[in-house]
Amino acid sequence: MLEPSFCQPTRISRSVARFGALALAAILAACGGSDDDGSANAGATATLAVLETTDLHFNVRSYDYFKLAEDKSYGFERTATLVRAARKEFANTLLVDNGDSIQGTALADYEATISPIPCTQQLSMYKAMGALGFDAGTLGNHEFNYGLPFLNQVLGGGLDVEGVDATKKCAGAGYPMALANVYSSKTKKPLVQPYTILERTLTAKGADGKEVKLPIKVGVIGFTTPGIMNWDKRYLEGKVYTEGAVEAATKYVPELRAKGADVVVALLHGGLDSAAYSPTMENPGLHLSKVAGIDAMVMGHQHSVFPDAAATPAYRQAGVDNKAGTINGVPAVMASSWGKSLGVIQLALQWDGSKWVVNKTASKSELRNTQSKNAAGATVYVEPDAAVAQLIETQHQAAIQYVKTPIGSTDFRMSTLFADVGDPGAIQIVNQAQQAYVAAYIKASLPQYAALPVLSVSAPFKSGFQGGADYTDVAVGPLAINNAADLYLYPNTVYAVKVNGGDIKNWLEAAAKRFNQIDPAKTTEQSLISTFPGYNFDMFTTPDLQYEIDVTQPVGSRIKNLAYLGKPMDVAQEFVIATNNYRATSGKSFIDKLDGSGTIWASPDANRDVVIDYIRKNPTVTRATNGAAKSWRFAKATTAGPVVFSSGANALSVAQAAGLTNVSLLAADDGLGKGTSKYGIDLSK
Ligand code: MN
Ligand code: MG
Repeated sequence: MLEPSFCQPTRISRSVARFGALALAAILAACGGSDDDGSANAGATATLAVLETTDLHFNVRSYDYFKLAEDKSYGFERTATLVRAARKEFANTLLVDNGDSIQGTALADYEATISPIPCTQQLSMYKAMGALGFDAGTLGNHEFNYGLPFLNQVLGGGLDVEGVDATKKCAGAGYPMALANVYSSKTKKPLVQPYTILERTLTAKGADGKEVKLPIKVGVIGFTTPGIMNWDKRYLEGKVYTEGAVEAATKYVPELRAKGADVVVALLHGGLDSAAYSPTMENPGLHLSKVAGIDAMVMGHQHSVFPDAAATPAYRQAGVDNKAGTINGVPAVMASSWGKSLGVIQLALQWDGSKWVVNKTASKSELRNTQSKNAAGATVYVEPDAAVAQLIETQHQAAIQYVKTPIGSTDFRMSTLFADVGDPGAIQIVNQAQQAYVAAYIKASLPQYAALPVLSVSAPFKSGFQGGADYTDVAVGPLAINNAADLYLYPNTVYAVKVNGGDIKNWLEAAAKRFNQIDPAKTTEQSLISTFPGYNFDMFTTPDLQYEIDVTQPVGSRIKNLAYLGKPMDVAQEFVIATNNYRATSGKSFIDKLDGSGTIWASPDANRDVVIDYIRKNPTVTRATNGAAKSWRFAKATTAGPVVFSSGANALSVAQAAGLTNVSLLAADDGLGKGTSKYGIDLSK
């Protein structure tokens, strides 16, 4: 941590407003006989290391609350070790957090909704971060997931917005938040301060080579995703509004400069997208980097990594330099998620006699990971910081008790290991829960839609992206809350949309991008699964709706024999589809109506809670009732060569138990280094 400096005569004028004339005299006296007027040190240089955490998602511990087991691959307790190491390495550091900190684990839900943390106590995430001492942060979209009164409480008060007691004083985050592009509708002012100015003292190297201490003002400004207005509409509509990151930066960065900020660090809870700029764009980093006066940019939200030329996929848009770690010349980082990386921007600074100037070309950025390979090729992990875990131990144990609460039982292994090839075993119960929930609501409260059939879609949220353990996998036996959270990974809320039969076909065509186009004539091996994320592979799981996916056809022409109640789908017939807030509001790439315009009900309830509730009401879960309804299969095709895919290691018995007799195990180790096996699928069967 840098210490505040009040002892630099050339800088005193900046402090007068804060300390007043008497204090100024005292400061001058305290500075004694120094004849250092700052300008004597012109030419001094220093490195300021900006350290970034982002998208921690309440992963204080390296612990999986779904599996009730340690997972060393993430957790702030290990990032903390990297922070301490960086502070030893660099004389001058600034630690910032980029948001999406307070949501994402069962512990987060526990402290927000199950046993709400009292006003006098810090959230466990903030408490853990406090052990390291953050200098500043911003808010991600997920900070809004529990509503504004809760956010007001955990930030310590001060949100002057309708429905919130802004005067409530609570424990708070422990570090200043800056957010420039979300405004209170009540005050027309930023919901939290748009920026903060940190006054610190840098240890610098004088032109004569001697160490010299010089003051610096670092301006920190934050931006979040305008998508909050859709995703948390029920909490935010009419209460706050957003502005584009570029518009907010154009307004406030000059203000920061005018107030004497030597350096401006932008905390963007967003990443990079090569699309043309719009004020509602989710990932405007390429555009924000071009706003004059921004010296460094800390990114996130996409849970990706920058700089990292070897990442798959790596950012490759025009203006991105993965080697230098710059975006349009601005040093930048994106430190993965869940504490897996620490971003480090080394800002090279020069003292011109009265202020610091950033030498951007001499600056650089890098990521430091908690996980790496040693010389022997084995995965090794940074050790956890000794102080962090014990700080939250009581709450950690309480969250474990919460997620272990039994709510039912299952007679089959509910997994997404083979969801990509037709096993509905972990998805059907989600669809059943969503369907029942929406149908009941329509009957009670939306009579104008009572005549429409209600169907549901969901997707295999965990489908191997992170490796062989990244699948929903619920064992036979008792079902507890942690299992329900495994069945529904995200803290989404249920939304109902009105579409017609034609929309359903197009929706499914978009979801079928999950597959590469298979050439039946090709004799060499072809990989079935594309890079289109599994969580976007929406599917129905009901005998009422049937379709085939023809992977030999190009994207857009794959859905065959779509039928409702045994008859070809009438493109004009209307339906209500239960889905989630993300799909309903930002699913325009599926069908136009998923831009929010098709929504007939934005429910306040989390899909996960709806699933938990459904299991509570239907506690005896069976394959026959809850895991065997296949709405779709692959259209039959004879291929000259093998069609292959990866899934969890040695899990063929799971496919067989699901009745997928066309799946075979080809190699126990598929060679990807992710703990997955290679499977074949015979599309002719
Ligand atoms: Mn996030
Ligand atoms: Mg985010």
